[in-house]
Amino acid sequence: MGPLRADVAIVGGGYTGLWTAYHLKRADPTTEVVLLEADICGGGPSGRNGGFMYGLWEDFGILVELFGVEGAVRVGEASERAVDSAVDVFRGAGIDIWFERSGHLNVSTSPIFDEAIEEYRGLLSHEGFPPDLYEVLSASEVALRCRSPQFRGGVLQTRGATVQPARLARGLRALILGLGVRIFEGTPVDGIQAGAPARITTRSGEVMADQVVLGLNAWSNQLPGFRRSVIPRSSHIVLTEPAPDRLREIGWTGGEGIGDFRATLHYLRTTPDGRIAFGAGTGSSSREIDSRMSNDPTWYRRLERQLQKWFPEFRGVGIDAVWGGPIDVSAHHVPFFGSIWGGNVHYGMGFTGGGVGPCVLGGRILSSLALGRRDEFTTLPLVGLRSKRFPPEPLLSIGARLTLEAILRTDDAWEAGRSGNPLLEMVARMPRRLGYNLGH
Ligand SMILES: Cc1cc2nc3c(=O)[nH]c(=O)nc-3n(C[C@H](O)[C@H](O)[C@H](O)COP(=O)(O)OP(=O)(O)OC[C@H]3O[C@@H](n4cnc5c(N)ncnc54)[C@H](O)[C@@H]3O)c2cc1C
Repeated sequence: MGPLRADVAIVGGGYTGLWTAYHLKRADPTTEVVLLEADICGGGPSGRNGGFMYGLWEDFGILVELFGVEGAVRVGEASERAVDSAVDVFRGAGIDIWFERSGHLNVSTSPIFDEAIEEYRGLLSHEGFPPDLYEVLSASEVALRCRSPQFRGGVLQTRGATVQPARLARGLRALILGLGVRIFEGTPVDGIQAGAPARITTRSGEVMADQVVLGLNAWSNQLPGFRRSVIPRSSHIVLTEPAPDRLREIGWTGGEGIGDFRATLHYLRTTPDGRIAFGAGTGSSSREIDSRMSNDPTWYRRLERQLQKWFPEFRGVGIDAVWGGPIDVSAHHVPFFGSIWGGNVHYGMGFTGGGVGPCVLGGRILSSLALGRRDEFTTLPLVGLRSKRFPPEPLLSIGARLTLEAILRTDDAWEAGRSGNPLLEMVARMPRRLGYNLGH
């Protein structure tokens, strides 16, 4: 390949890179855009996530702490409008991404987790928060949507939706190809030399670009200057065989996404052919993105046990597929954007395992940054947010491993209705005491 010349080169073909390319071409069709992806577009987490799609209202409390009520409302509203715009894009193009706005249900699975419902109730009366976004549900109201011996009361996020993640990623790829973006898959970038233009090197050639956009998710921690900005952590999913009759038995036929209140979140959904996809947001954490991040049999066994505990009706239903991938955990738990190296290299990262909806907004922000525009997207307070840094190595790896184990064990004890080991609980609360929005 090359040497190629481009107005904008995008590194990473996940939702961040793909939406950036889409919005660049929509804003100015004459912009020459090249996208470089190590794998195939959507080969990373964008093609294999749980498919829960919502904006950033869920993080309203954090956003208020960071930006005040007005800033938090701007981010919440912009993220929600971005989700709606994404739906319109696919509808307009006739691409079926299995979008279902059936609501997202957060359920309490033990008395200790009931406290979280009260926190949501508090949010509903918070200045600026949309009062119709959540409905607090009693245990019997939850059971009308999905029955499990473990479920208690819960909260329904009324605008929560699900999509088929790979259809979204591959659909976007098709759309941007149609708009004239040049895509190079199987092309890992191995160096970026700052400058005007910047020089991007790959094994198969070079690209010279006036602007560069980095949509590297968990791989961002390999960039100089970002090693302590995000930590890669794995998330895994097991997918059952189709069992629509069992879904009817537990009354889960409305298509709602479901999550619990553990810090080591469980998330689950159904598919149109009657399967359950059951995932855990917290696998292992490590500096390197190794094969265990995408494939960890220990987590699959855990998830299968958990699935059968929550839904005894699914005992005997086989597991058809298992997979995982890395997420980019940021200290604040919200994404952040900015420009570096002379101002023509733009980044977006820190989605912390929740990027399906927010990456649409990310693409708007990054395309405007690359076009040098000052607009409603580049003036959002997420742009230029200085992410709190994690401790240096080896403290980071050791600390992340220890706290994750303590958080997991504390969650397990609480879910079983026991109080946790006081020492482990203390370690599990440590990240928050140190100012990170992680753990208990
Ligand atoms: C199992 C799992 C379940 C999830 N479930 C949900 C969910 O239900 N809802 C939700 O909102 N979020 C979920 N997420 C998170 C969500 O998938 C991400 O936040 C989102 O996909 C991030 O998109 P991205 O484009 O920033 O990153 P990615 O999709 O990771 O894209 C980054 C791309 O960069 C490429 N790359 C890396 N290094 C290089 C290089 N040197 N050169 C070129 N390319 C490179 C990678 O191959 C990758 O394709 C989940 C994640 C996982 C792993």
